[in-house]
Amino acid sequence: MGIAERLSDIFVAGLFYSIFDFIQHKFGLFSIKSGVAVWILLFLFTDFLWYWYHRLAHEVNILWLAHIVHHQSEDFNYTVSARITIFQAFARSAFWSFLPLLGFPAGMITSMLIIHGAYPFFVHTRLIGKLGLLEYIFVTPSHHRVHHARNEKYLDKNYGDALIIWDKIFGTFQREEDEEPAVYGLTKPLRTYSFLWQHFHFGIELFFAIKRQRTWKNKFAVLFVRPEKIDPSLRAEAEERFKVKPNNIGVQMDKSLNRYVKWQMILLLIGLFVFILFEHYLQIGFEIGFVLFTLLTLINCGAIMEQKKWIFYLEYSRLLLIAIGLLIIYPKLIVIALLFILFSVLAYYAKPVKKYYFGIIYSSQE
Ligand SMILES: [Zn+2]
Ligand SMILES: [Zn+2]
Repeated sequence: MGIAERLSDIFVAGLFYSIFDFIQHKFGLFSIKSGVAVWILLFLFTDFLWYWYHRLAHEVNILWLAHIVHHQSEDFNYTVSARITIFQAFARSAFWSFLPLLGFPAGMITSMLIIHGAYPFFVHTRLIGKLGLLEYIFVTPSHHRVHHARNEKYLDKNYGDALIIWDKIFGTFQREEDEEPAVYGLTKPLRTYSFLWQHFHFGIELFFAIKRQRTWKNKFAVLFVRPEKIDPSLRAEAEERFKVKPNNIGVQMDKSLNRYVKWQMILLLIGLFVFILFEHYLQIGFEIGFVLFTLLTLINCGAIMEQKKWIFYLEYSRLLLIAIGLLIIYPKLIVIALLFILFSVLAYYAKPVKKYYFGIIYSSQE
C-alpha cells in the first residue's frame, strides 16, 4: 500500500501545491506573511482541520472510501502508518484548500503538511506505553491504538493528528484501558491479501448499496450517510460477484513462498528509493513503465500469498515490461534478437516452465 502511495504521490504532490498557490493568489482573503506567531497559529489551525477531516472520514461514506485502507490492518506497527492511498491525499487537500482561501501561502501550507504527515508515523506502535503528562496534550501511541481498535468501546474515537485536545473538546476522546486490550482492524475484517480488493472493495459495496435504492435522492444520500448504515451482507455479495474467496490468512506461509515475496518487496523498495531520487532526470515513458511494473508486482505479491494460479501470466507480463524497457534503453538489433529467442523458448516450454515456477514458489502445492 505504502509503495503504491509513495509512487503516485510523486505525480500529484506538485499539483496540490499549484492548487493552493492558485487559490491564495486568486481568492486569498488576507495577505499572510510568515512569522513565529503565524506558524503557531497555522499549526493549531491545520491540526483542527485535520481533526475534522479525519472525523468526517469515519462518519461519511464517500470520505470513508478514501480512508478505509488505513484501518484494514489487523496488526498495529510502524508500517501501518504507510497504509494510505492517493485518494486520501485528494480528500485531505480539499479540506486544506480552506487555508489558502484565508491567505496562507502554499509554501507554508506544504511545509506544515510535512509535519502533519510525519507525526503519525510515531504513534503507530504497540511498543510504547503511556507517556505521562504528554498524554494530556499530544496524540500518543496509546491514543492511536484506541483509534485503530475495533472494540465496541473504542470505535470512532481519538481522531486527532498531533494534539489530543480536539477530541476532548468535541467529545470523541477515549483513553486506553488495561482491562480492554485493543483488537485491531475493521469491524468486519477483510479476508484477502488482494492489493486491488483492499483498495476497491468498499467502493464496490457502496455501488451495490446505491443500486438497491429506488429514487435518485436516496441513491445520492448513500454517499453521505455513516458507514454503519451500509448493509454488511453487501460484502459477501461483492466477494461473490468478483470471485474473491476467503483464503489462507493466518496460515503459516511456506518458507520458499515467503522468501519470494520478501525479495520482491525488498527490490521494489530499493527501486522506489532510487526512482524518487532520480525522478527529475527520468523520461515520462520510463516513469510510466516503472509505475506499471510496480503495480503489477504489488498485485502479484498479494495473489502469490493467496496461491492463485493466474499469477503465472502476470509474471509473463512483468517480463514483457522489462523487455520493452530494455528495448527503449538499448534499441539494438542484438537485444531484439536475444529477447525474441528468450520469449520463443518461454512460449515453447510454457508447460515445464510453469511447473518449475510453481515448484519454486508453491513447493508443496504443485
Ligand atoms: Zn482513522
Ligand atoms: Zn493510524
